[in-house]
Amino acid sequence: MAINITEYNKIVNETKEKNSTLVAVSKLQPVSAIESLYQMGQRDFGENYVQELITKQPLLPGDIQWHFIGHLQSNKVKYIAPFVHLVHTVDSEKLLNEINKQAAKNNRVIHCLIQVHIAEEDTKFGLLPQQAEELLLSLQQMAFKNIVIAGLMGMASFSDDVNKVAGEFKTLQQLFKKYQQYFSKNQTPHIAFNILSMGMSGDYTLAMQHGSNMIRVGSLIFGQRH
Ligand SMILES: *Cc1c(COP(=O)(O)O)cnc(C)c1O
Repeated sequence: MAINITEYNKIVNETKEKNSTLVAVSKLQPVSAIESLYQMGQRDFGENYVQELITKQPLLPGDIQWHFIGHLQSNKVKYIAPFVHLVHTVDSEKLLNEINKQAAKNNRVIHCLIQVHIAEEDTKFGLLPQQAEELLLSLQQMAFKNIVIAGLMGMASFSDDVNKVAGEFKTLQQLFKKYQQYFSKNQTPHIAFNILSMGMSGDYTLAMQHGSNMIRVGSLIFGQRH
């Protein structure tokens, strides 16, 4: 069994102390590894690929909260809408419309985060901060009944430069705070802005220092991906 129990318990304690949620990223890991972590009490798991998620989900306990953290195409939303807990990677109004539509078909409300591009690499998805602001402001006027915009998600650069990574987290933290304040004054039924999802195996401590309340950790817990 590849799970690093010591590391897992350490991260669980750190997140408890900081009132943060640990999403165990199980992409490319076998169902048996997810079961082991489930036995230890873990309930939030993150997956990146629709096909992989819909293959694993029926094999695992029904009270797992599945987080979708990969790039999501509109035409695939229907496959995960029956059970997905939180979509971290919304980057367009079109995608929100589709999630709302598929959630309605399933009689569900699906929580979503807006993905913001904070890293320097251009390989990472997400809206630029200004585009994210435009989307957030336009969402207020819309009458979504089956989605809740729950906050923001971002990925920092893969870099050893702590100042650079910290700067990127700070950018997202400031944007999050700004709109958290804004939406607390301008209440909208389908907006409940309280989740800031940032931090992975290499940078979750730094992310929590910058206000993250949801970290997504894979390889540190599960070991290398297969
Ligand atoms: C794979 C992935 C993670 C986890 O990465 P690790 O470095 O293995 O912790 C977190 N977030 C996203 C969006 C990912 O794609």
